[in-house]
Amino acid sequence: MKAEIIAVGTEILTGQIVNTNAQFLSEKLASLGIDVYYHVAVGDNEGRLFSTIETASKRSDLVILCGGLGPTEDDLTKQTLAKFLGKELVFDPTALAKLDTFFASRPDYVRTPNNERQAQLIAGSIPLQNRTGLAVGGLIEVDGVTYVVLPGPPSELKPMVNEQLVPHLTTGEQLFSRVLRFFGIGESQLVTILADIIEKQSDPTVAPYAKTGEVTLRLSTKAKDQASADAKLDVLEKEILSRHTLDHQPLHELFYGYGDDNSMAKVAFDLLKGTGKTITAAESLTAGLFQATLADFSGASSIFAGGFVTYSLEEKSKMLSIPAQELEQHGVVSHFTAQAMASQARKLTGSDYGVSLTGVAGPDSLEGHPAGTVFIGLATPNGVDSVQVNIAGRSRADVREIAVLHAFNLVRLAVLNGENLV
Ligand code: ATP
Ligand code: MG
Repeated sequence: MKAEIIAVGTEILTGQIVNTNAQFLSEKLASLGIDVYYHVAVGDNEGRLFSTIETASKRSDLVILCGGLGPTEDDLTKQTLAKFLGKELVFDPTALAKLDTFFASRPDYVRTPNNERQAQLIAGSIPLQNRTGLAVGGLIEVDGVTYVVLPGPPSELKPMVNEQLVPHLTTGEQLFSRVLRFFGIGESQLVTILADIIEKQSDPTVAPYAKTGEVTLRLSTKAKDQASADAKLDVLEKEILSRHTLDHQPLHELFYGYGDDNSMAKVAFDLLKGTGKTITAAESLTAGLFQATLADFSGASSIFAGGFVTYSLEEKSKMLSIPAQELEQHGVVSHFTAQAMASQARKLTGSDYGVSLTGVAGPDSLEGHPAGTVFIGLATPNGVDSVQVNIAGRSRADVREIAVLHAFNLVRLAVLNGENLV
């Protein structure tokens, strides 16, 4: 089934309101296994609305119009659709009774013929009652095309869709998705090594999505239940994870988790919590971003008691008790400094893990290191180590954010490897 969503309202075209109804409806239709092919927005103008409906009727099986069901003169959605379909408007008794009750309880409101319009329906429609407002919605099938009219205010549209419309649209199949998360590979390389899978995709489908420093793949399939969806998604996931990167690294090593909300930080956090380990950090270029990210998760206090923001050389020396001349000798952007910061942070707080971040956020270089050079240290009960990462060509904000991702990835791998450093 091909669906099209038409948002009616000049305020959308002038940018006064954001068309969140289209987003809500698209998500809802996708979950019902209905493909949305077009989003259209049109102003409160009868001629343009008429031709928009005409176009939609030729290319879509389900045409959902939202907005313009209210009492004012510029609300002309039902009138225009009725004209296009060559049908009359008739009163819906339930909606009319609701209008009666509304005005009976508010004697100070003047009831005008315009108010009555809200209780009208295109003749032959199935009414969609409005639990949170006065304008009745409707659904009508004409020549194989289903037309739906919905009120504009989201507070009215959402309950109407959930409670009244969805039961009419259920196809027996739903869309099931699985999100695979990767760290350490860019979107373009991932798409390259999966090119044949992506090209031949029909069911399940594969959609890559690049986020700052990581990539996700959304695998989606239509199925009647979770078990039959899983059977199809398992086969595809196995095929994807059996691939190798262009430099022959197994892709499954770069795969770190499932789900839209399961960020790298969350995965590392859950592993720490699950193993009852505590963590601290000493941060230079990220100035607390790693620790702030930890504190985003409820229950952070059980694994994180505190840490250090040591931006200058002096504070690295003072707060972490590292001799200043050693920092000067090795440079603050170095393996030495990263390891000393991680070890001292761990020791001073008595934590199981100590993380450190020192490097060049940019845009200028530092100590001869280009922007994006970051050393990340990790101290565990088994010793201390550090890695150098080069986050080239990114903004200052991205360098800091991606450096934190790398740090969480090191923690994740260390927990998985029984505190052996990578
Ligand atoms: P009303 O009875 O309030 O006039 P209506 O069905 O006639 O409702 P509109 O007049 O088109 O709807 O819009 C009313 C309000 O609903 C808008 O001012 C806006 O706040 C919200 N709205 C309308 N369309 C959308 C949309 N596509 N996305 C999000 N909000 C919307
Ligand atoms: Mg209106």
